[in-house]
Amino acid sequence: MTRYYVALGSNMGDRLAYLRAGVRGMSALGLEVAALSSVYETAPWGNTDQAAFLNAVAAVDSTLSPRGVLLRLQAVETHAGRRRDIHWGPRTLDLDLLYADGVGWHDAVLTLPHPYFWERGFVLVPLAEVAPDLTYQGESVQARAADRTDGVRRVARRWLQSVDE
Ligand code: ATP
Ligand code: CA
Ligand code: CA
Repeated sequence: MTRYYVALGSNMGDRLAYLRAGVRGMSALGLEVAALSSVYETAPWGNTDQAAFLNAVAAVDSTLSPRGVLLRLQAVETHAGRRRDIHWGPRTLDLDLLYADGVGWHDAVLTLPHPYFWERGFVLVPLAEVAPDLTYQGESVQARAADRTDGVRRVARRWLQSVDE
């Protein structure tokens, strides 16, 4: 079993509903969601001329390979109406594979760890909640996140309840 960390993001339509659909979709495809961070509202990154995002991070357990997990994440995105057009543009649901302990991967469709996970406050702040003991390149995720809280605002701690079936 491998523990994977997955970033969820949305900045179109009912953003919280899309994040919830992301969690439900991962579970439905057999990815075991072991922990969920709070939801944060965050300023857009890269292409900044777009609506604010909601972001969260999930810890997901699976026996699948990183490519197997990515395929399922992409199926969940597609089911949530994700279109692939503008790079770093608006999206209903974005699911990125961030990190897995001791797992490295690099090919045409997957790079793991995700190339920007250690830079982005909107990833590091929620990641520090679900993986407080994580260290990377000799630095703790807690310290790394504490330096990158600008534009990252917690909006909900327990956000899945209302849709639990
Ligand atoms: P960013 O990756 O900088 O957050 P993005 O999420 O907007 O940008 P997408 O358009 O969602 O980028 O994805 C582009 C491609 O990135 C995907 O088709 C996928 O094959 C590839 N990719 C490479 N590594 C990863 C990863 N770790 N997680 C998710 N997708 C990845
Ligand atoms: Ca992304
Ligand atoms: Ca993505």
